[in-house]
Amino acid sequence: MRECDVLVVGGGPAGSSCARALLAAGADVLVVDRAAFPRDKVCAGWITPAVVDALQIDLDEYARGRTLQPFRAFRTGTLDGPRRETTFGEIVSYGIRRCEFDHYLLERSGAQVVERQPVRSIRRDGDAWIVDEQFRARMLVGAGGHFCPVARALNADQPQEEVIVAQEIEFRLDPEQAAGCRVAPECPDLFFWPDLRGYGWCVRKGDYLNVGVGRLAEGGFPAVVRRFADLVDRLGIVPGGVPSPWKGHAYLIHTASRRRVVDDGVVLVGDAAGLALAPSGEGILTAIESGLAAAEVVAAAGARRDREALGSYERWIDARIGPRGRPGIWVHLPGWVLNLGARAVLGSGWLTRRVLIEDGFLHTRRPPFTPWRPSPDAARP
Ligand SMILES: Cc1cc2nc3c(=O)[nH]c(=O)nc-3n(C[C@H](O)[C@H](O)[C@H](O)COP(=O)(O)OP(=O)(O)OC[C@H]3O[C@@H](n4cnc5c(N)ncnc54)[C@H](O)[C@@H]3O)c2cc1C
Repeated sequence: MRECDVLVVGGGPAGSSCARALLAAGADVLVVDRAAFPRDKVCAGWITPAVVDALQIDLDEYARGRTLQPFRAFRTGTLDGPRRETTFGEIVSYGIRRCEFDHYLLERSGAQVVERQPVRSIRRDGDAWIVDEQFRARMLVGAGGHFCPVARALNADQPQEEVIVAQEIEFRLDPEQAAGCRVAPECPDLFFWPDLRGYGWCVRKGDYLNVGVGRLAEGGFPAVVRRFADLVDRLGIVPGGVPSPWKGHAYLIHTASRRRVVDDGVVLVGDAAGLALAPSGEGILTAIESGLAAAEVVAAAGARRDREALGSYERWIDARIGPRGRPGIWVHLPGWVLNLGARAVLGSGWLTRRVLIEDGFLHTRRPPFTPWRPSPDAARP
């Protein structure tokens, strides 16, 4: 039996950020992941500058031998409507490849990692956890993404969730495709469903193109993917067309997440907790922020690892990311009202810039992440 103080299940952005901060606080940490890194993750690979700030990533160092595509503009419109380009005088986001980014973060964390370890069983033994009958830890961090086994164990009684389902493909462009590609590297293309409950994207990252679509799961998702793939072909986005098959995954927007995220000796971070931001679906930032915040709460709890001592993490989520399990009024609005709203936003240059891109995608008015010293009662973002 391998023993450690904190066992982190999942070495994605949430798990590696949490492990790094726990190590800095002097904890004895072990990360287990079912994959061997570098591994891919179904994702468009778009990050906002807040990610770079939260982790203090040296971009010059990162860009050495890795893809780092600056974005200075967005092209938006409905699926079949006119397209509008919104430009910014500065870099407002970056395109990364998850196989490179996640590997970089995990290596940089300095944590010991056990790869090819798909966690299957979790049980309590006194005040410790026994995982796969191989690992014993006093504290468990569930960072295994949407289908995290720790999240499942903690939420076995939860009702059906309103997930976002998504499919994408990322492929390398040959020289002819790179020359003829209709997506400008600095300007991702976003195609919104008329009710704004989903969107497709074409994101160029250097010599790579990522094409995908995500939508609130209401049935009929294969038809959604077909419709978007047909549109991409019709528009001739890339010579020779976009290959298939696309890969699928799911995640939760924080307003839809009702997952229990804290219990005695356990916290959930990132997608395991269901923390992606609406409406963009940006989940890398909240994975990292929640990983860092959870590490602080665990470190501050010291030897006390009960639900009460860890409870400030839950309050941190509600204060920083937003209340969970409250979908907001828009989900109750009839389709025709949503369609009118979408047309108004996408039809106006000012609303597209301020409401859709700056607030909905870049979260430019969100205060920067600052590490904080949690106290049992305080909820300070
Ligand atoms: C199609 C799509 C596009 C997206 N595009 C973007 C985007 O452009 N920008 C953005 O910010 N967000 C995007 N997201 C959301 C983003 O991908 C996630 O929010 C983010 O990856 C969450 O990070 P995480 O560390 O919580 O989980 P993950 O990145 O999923 O990492 C979880 C880790 O746990 C491991 N694991 C899983 N199960 C087990 C197990 N049983 N045992 C051991 N290890 C396990 C996995 O191998 C993985 O390494 C997208 C999501 C989808 C589906």
